[in-house]
Order: sequence, then structure tokens, then C-alpha cells
Amino acid sequence: MAFNLPELPYRMDALAPHMSKETLEFHYGKHHKKYVDTLNGLMEGTEYASMNLADVIVTSREKKDMKVFNNASQVWNHTFFWNGLTPGGSSPSGDLEAKLSGAFGSMGEFKKKFTETAVNTFGSGWAWLVKDSSGSLKLLSTSNAEGPFGTGDTALLTVDVWEHAYYIDHRNARPKFLEAFWSLVNWEFVEKNFNEKNPTS
Ligand code: FE
Repeated sequence: MAFNLPELPYRMDALAPHMSKETLEFHYGKHHKKYVDTLNGLMEGTEYASMNLADVIVTSREKKDMKVFNNASQVWNHTFFWNGLTPGGSSPSGDLEAKLSGAFGSMGEFKKKFTETAVNTFGSGWAWLVKDSSGSLKLLSTSNAEGPFGTGDTALLTVDVWEHAYYIDHRNARPKFLEAFWSLVNWEFVEKNFNEKNPTS
């Protein structure tokens, strides 16, 4: 099937001042769209043409079909990233906060460690909060297009640390982008992912 660029759950100017409309116009409107368009082109006339996105990711990873995998995984990662943000941010429920504090020491420690994971990701990649197959919370850094989808870990929250995510608003200052990110996190989305039964594995 040919994929469409998923609708954003908010307007492109709705994340300002933490993330500018111009960043959304490029990051969502050009980069995310390019991954969708490239993937559709690569799949045409191949065994992938009849698959849904989940099957394309899992199959192309297995076959080390990297062009298809990179574009398919980037489509999934970006959609997940946008859904993890909300205008003005939100607050975690007491229950989720207790789980994060239990796993990382405190809410402050969780944010510090997640931020370190993101800032220390070398080059282009993603930082993730995931729930592993035993139900434990952990942090992951993935390179380029890789992500937890289909690996057995359930993604709860991610931040895109490719330069295209922050260069317009923060130039090379990735830590400033992380500061802004915390003002936009959609904690209901994190909690929904936590409570779902392995939605991404
Ligand atoms: Fe990106």
C-alpha cells in the first residue's frame, strides 16, 4: 500500500515558542514527507507493496534491505515523535511519575538521564524511553533510522536528535533543544503506550 504523511495532531505553529513553525514546516513538511515519498517509490512493484508499515519495517530489517528499512523506520519514528509532543506540554500522572521515580530514582533523575542519552547520542539518531519485555523501564540511544519498533521493546517516548530537528531553532545547541523538548512532552501519550500491550513489538 502507498503510505500518506500522517496528519499532525496540532497546527504547525502550536508548539511555539518551544519549537517554531519553521522547524515544523521543514521537519514535518519536508523531512518526514520525504521519507514517506521515498518509501512509496522504493516499495512500488516489490514484495513490500502489499504490506502495512509494521511489516515493511520488520521484513526489511530482517533482510538487511537498508534503503527500505531506513525510510520505513524513519516514517514510524517521526510519527511517534510528533505524537509525543503537545502544545504547552502536560504533566505525568502520579502513577506514571511513581513508575519513573522507581526506575530512575526520581522524576528529575529520569529527565537528566534521558537528556544525557539524547545529548550523548553520537551523530544522527534518537533517544528513547522504552518498556522491555519484562516490563522494566529503560533508556536507549539508536543511530540513524534505528528504533525499538519490532525489537521486543515497547517505545514510550522519543526525541529526534538529528540536526534537522534543532538546527533552525537552536543551531548546533542540542542541549537547548532538549530543554525545549521537556516543555512539550505529551505525558498522556507516554502513559497510553505504557499501558498498551506491546503496541510496538
Ligand atoms: Fe527527524
